[in-house]
Amino acid sequence: MKFMQFNTKVIHGGQENIDPGYGSVMPPIYQTTTFTQTSPGKHKGYAYSRTANPTRTALENSLASIENGRFGLTFSSGLAAIDAILKLLKTGDEVISTNNLYGGSYRLFTKIFENYGLKFKFINMEKASEIEAYITPKTKLIWVETPTNPMMNIIDIKEVSNIAKRNQIKLAVDNTFATAYLQRPLDLGADIVMHSATKYLGGHSDVVMGSIVINNQELAERLYFIQNASGAIAGPMDCFLVLRGIKTLHLRMQRHSENGKAVAHFLKTHPQVEKVYWPGFEEHPNHKVAKTQMKDFGGMVSFTTKGNSVKQALAFVEKLKIFTLAESLGGVESLAGHPVSMTHASVPKEERDKIGIEDSLIRLSIGIEDKEDLIKDLEQALRE
Ligand SMILES: *Cc1c(COP(=O)(O)O)cnc(C)c1O
Repeated sequence: MKFMQFNTKVIHGGQENIDPGYGSVMPPIYQTTTFTQTSPGKHKGYAYSRTANPTRTALENSLASIENGRFGLTFSSGLAAIDAILKLLKTGDEVISTNNLYGGSYRLFTKIFENYGLKFKFINMEKASEIEAYITPKTKLIWVETPTNPMMNIIDIKEVSNIAKRNQIKLAVDNTFATAYLQRPLDLGADIVMHSATKYLGGHSDVVMGSIVINNQELAERLYFIQNASGAIAGPMDCFLVLRGIKTLHLRMQRHSENGKAVAHFLKTHPQVEKVYWPGFEEHPNHKVAKTQMKDFGGMVSFTTKGNSVKQALAFVEKLKIFTLAESLGGVESLAGHPVSMTHASVPKEERDKIGIEDSLIRLSIGIEDKEDLIKDLEQALRE
């Protein structure tokens, strides 16, 4: 089935013979902890659901297929997936990470793994060549998030991967914002692609889950070992839901991108709006990279307002009627967030200022409603 293109893969990729019992079109939800053995160690491939579960296998194969990878793994959350990746490292190892990244990833790195002797360097990667100055013999992992959260910087995955390869460092990419529909990091040279499947992959704001896809068998075996040994696995019901979500990923991402573009252009011309962060603008500093690396520009848009106060931002989000004020992103419904008081509250102000997360910054996750309605809602909330 090597010939399948993306829209076919989201529906059929890795889904051959999913129910040998009755031929169901969707995989059964194997809501079971354990499996019969006819003699010790003799079973049909499954022994205990932490180690492996057929519904989870169906999803893991689908994820591997859409990311053009060979091996997929799922976890109980995006952070559990990142946790598993960091457990590939040892005390003393160093990680170079994007400096404006998901607040929870920053917290996991600095508040948990620094205690175990890992060292993190947070840097701006918009000019990939600048990474080299931070590499030491102890550097074992480069962590890239692109587009970045919430500033929508774009990092050149291919260029970073060339640097990583030259220095024999593994490259992991958090592909949550873009998804495999917009960009495929493994094709661009990354070793590991990670998702918070909670967002666009699930797509309906009803599951928390994380995933990893890799090509290298040895790396896959180490990750499967960690998945089983640490145990933060995804449950069968949740796997079923994300598999269902993935079947419409291409349609949703297409509409998210279309609506994101309309909202970004509306905000850009609004007199109350100061700056709009969206990689589709030609004057966006990384627009060229975005254009070559991504199929489209996605549904995430951030902006600041004139006056730049927290008070203004709060007044705006409280007035919204269609946009829901909530953490998270990537669902069918439009959401608005205020990073300074929500997702990035755990990032110190000093660090926030350095990366441009200003007091009035609003982050929008543009859903798949009618774009005219979304714009009307923003218009009324911006009215003084
Ligand atoms: C949400 C998110 C995570 C964390 O995922 P959870 O599923 O919430 O644990 C990691 N990275 C990015 C970019 C995210 O948006």
